Parts: sequence; C-alpha cells; structure tokens
Amino acid sequence: MIYYSTNGQAPDATLAEAVVKGLASDKGLFMPEKIKPLSQEFFDNIQDMTFQEIAFEVANAFFGEDIECETLRKIVYDTLSFDTPAVKVEDNIYSLELFHGPTLAFKDVGARFMARLLGHFIAQEGEGREVNVLVATSGDTGSAVANGFLGVPGIKVYVLYPHAKVTEIQEKQFTTLGQNITAIEVEGTFDDCQALVKSAFMDKELNEAMKLTSANSINVARFLPQAFYYFYAYAQLKKAGKADNVVCCVPSGNFGNITAGLFGKRMGLPIKRFIAANNRNDVFLEYLNTGKYNPRPSVATIANAMDVGDPSNFARILALYENSHQAITAEISGVSYNDEEIRQTIKEAYTRTGYLLDPHGACGYRALCEKLSEGEVGFFLETAHPAKFLNTVEEVIGEQVAIPERLQAFMRGTKESVMMKPNFADLKEFLLSR
Ligand SMILES: *Cc1c(COP(=O)(O)O)cnc(C)c1O
Repeated sequence: MIYYSTNGQAPDATLAEAVVKGLASDKGLFMPEKIKPLSQEFFDNIQDMTFQEIAFEVANAFFGEDIECETLRKIVYDTLSFDTPAVKVEDNIYSLELFHGPTLAFKDVGARFMARLLGHFIAQEGEGREVNVLVATSGDTGSAVANGFLGVPGIKVYVLYPHAKVTEIQEKQFTTLGQNITAIEVEGTFDDCQALVKSAFMDKELNEAMKLTSANSINVARFLPQAFYYFYAYAQLKKAGKADNVVCCVPSGNFGNITAGLFGKRMGLPIKRFIAANNRNDVFLEYLNTGKYNPRPSVATIANAMDVGDPSNFARILALYENSHQAITAEISGVSYNDEEIRQTIKEAYTRTGYLLDPHGACGYRALCEKLSEGEVGFFLETAHPAKFLNTVEEVIGEQVAIPERLQAFMRGTKESVMMKPNFADLKEFLLSR
C-alpha cells in the first residue's frame, strides 16, 4: 500500500516508512492511497465472529499487502488481549467500553498494535537498530504508548506532557515505568508539547543524529487499528437485533479515533452517521457550523484528554471527504459541552441508570440522549475508565469509586520525570545528550 501526505508536497511512502517516520516531511499526515471495502459475506457473518477475527479482516484490508499474513494475525491477536464490550445503558443507547486494556483507555489498542508493528519493522532492519519514539500527551496517550512499548528491544520512548495538567493517576502510568521510557514534564500546555514534538521531527540535525518517530494518533499504525472496535461494536449490536439504524458518537480531541470510524464507514460498515462530541474546545463544531476552521489555543476542562485546540487529524477528515464541507456535514454532526454539563450528565446517568461515565464518555452519552431520532440506536465510545478521573467523578456522585487493581498497581510506583521549559533548543540538547 502506498501512503501519501495530506499536504501533497512529500514523496509517497511505504507502510514501513510511514510508520517509522510518523509525520510526512512536508508536515502532512500519511493517508493510505486506497480504502478497500470489505465483502458482503463479511458483514453477513460478522455477528458470529470474535473480536480478533473481525479485527484481522479489517487489518488485512489495510496492511495485508505489506505484512505476511501469519505475522499480521499474530500482531492483531496479541494487541487485542482484552475485550471491548458494548454495554446497554438505555434501550437504544450502548456504551462501547474501550477501557479494559492495560491502561484503561482506548489508546491501548492503537499503542499496542503500533509497538508490535514497529518492533517487527525494526527487527527486519537487523541487529543494533534503534528508534526513538517521541509522544506528546494530554493524559492518556502517554500511558498507553509507554506501556505498549515498555521493554520492546530497539525502541526508546520519550513522553512529553504538560506539568500539572494531567491527573495523578495518568501521570503515574508513564512516570513510574523506568527501562526504555523517559517522561519529560513540560512547563506549558499540551499544544506546547505537541509543537515541541513536531519541531523535533522537522529538525535536520537531530534527525541525522538519531532516528525519531511519533506515536501520536497521527501515526498510521496507531490510527488505523482504532477502526477494529467500530466493526466489533456493530457486530454486537447486530447480534442484539439493534443494527438497522446505527449512530455512533465519539468523544473527540485530536480526532484520530473518530477518523478511524469514518474509515470503517468507507469500508462498508453500516453506521448511518457520526456525532463528534467535544468539550469547550470546539473548533470542529465551529467548522461544521460555519465551514471555517480556526484553530486556537486549548482551554483546560475536566475532560482533559479532549483539550485540543488544533486537532491534528482534521487534515485526514478533509482528505477523506476531498475538502467538501457538504460531504462532511452529511455524515458528521457535532456537540460541545461545558464542565457543568459534563458533571450533570455523569450524575444524572448514574442516579437514573446506575451506569458510571467518565467525563469524556459523558459527552458522548449526552449527545446521544439529545440527538438520537426515533428508530435509531446509538453507541458512544466510553474512552476511559471513570476511575482514571477519580477526583472529578467521586465529587460529582458523592460516593467512592472502586479502583481496578491494575490501576492501583501504577499508583504504588515512584514518579520520575525531567522538567523542561517549552523551548525546542532545550529538548534538542537533552535528546542529543542521551
Ligand atoms: C485521547 C482521548 C480522547 C480523544 O481521542 P482523539 O482520538 O484524540 O479524538 C477522548 N477520551 C479519552 C479518554 C482519551 O484518552
């Protein structure tokens, strides 16, 4: 498969090149040249297939030309060592629980897949090869990537995160690991972290001295596997006899997750329409309403993994719909909720149904409550476990929340990080000294 850059100024890349480079040389995002539809037979039988079987068919459509079949199957099966059940919250609303992986957020899927695929490519290059993964995080990416790559030979990971803007639990998940993982605590915002990472990829001297790659959702190896669970969600709804008029709602920050779902639709997945749920960082909603895209600095909210003012995957959405605002609004609508509305939603849902939402999933759930039409069935992506946002959630419901054991284990570790100003020269010097 050939991967082209959304900016159109970089040479086409192979899968291995796109995965190792992360970002194209013109700062564009890599897009697969083709999106292959899956067969009618696949959709006819999907309700009887396992998550792993479904995911392999999807993976094969993207990666089958480039990776030997049994290797790809092993990567997919190892990645999906946990379930993503669609849990009924209301008669016509399901929660696709994506928090059953090692770091209790959906990013485990993409990160585990990417670590295995990159490990495969590095091993092919032979002894002594080393790749440095740079990743900016607003909370959950860092933990998923650090844990996905922990101990993988030939790979060093640098996690850049904004000081005092992630929760203690999130922070512990990437600052306590040691081994090949280094946490860099930036005195700035998530956007500063993202800008530092982008500058690093553009710096000629740094790239000559060391091989750098990104594990942000811009990397095709993290981004495309997120399509797997949209198909599996559909399979579960079909099994329950609820698949005729499916609406999917995705709590969105950098828009990688929803874009993977849109790719799924392009492959034939019968999802009628999508809703992008935002917190107060709603440049995408504004784009839907006005046709104008005005990126701006992010504002802090209680759904902090969606505090993004310039969503990187917006470029992929434009590419997918050939820049047509009309085509985009025909398939995607949007909502935006402030912190107070998010709190109310968590409380109301818990009191009325007993289902505990995290602040991100709460945006998704509320959007379906407000926007579903008669006869539609909706599922929202419950992108993280509520215990990851313990203070917020406990304060809202006025009760203690049980913390899963694998999360408690992280809490017992000791934090280690390198403090840094949001200044590229400092980052460069630090990386070159390693
Ligand atoms: C990363 C994240 C999001 C946003 O996902 P994008 O792919 O960046 O849109 C939403 N919720 C949680 C819990 C996250 O960690």
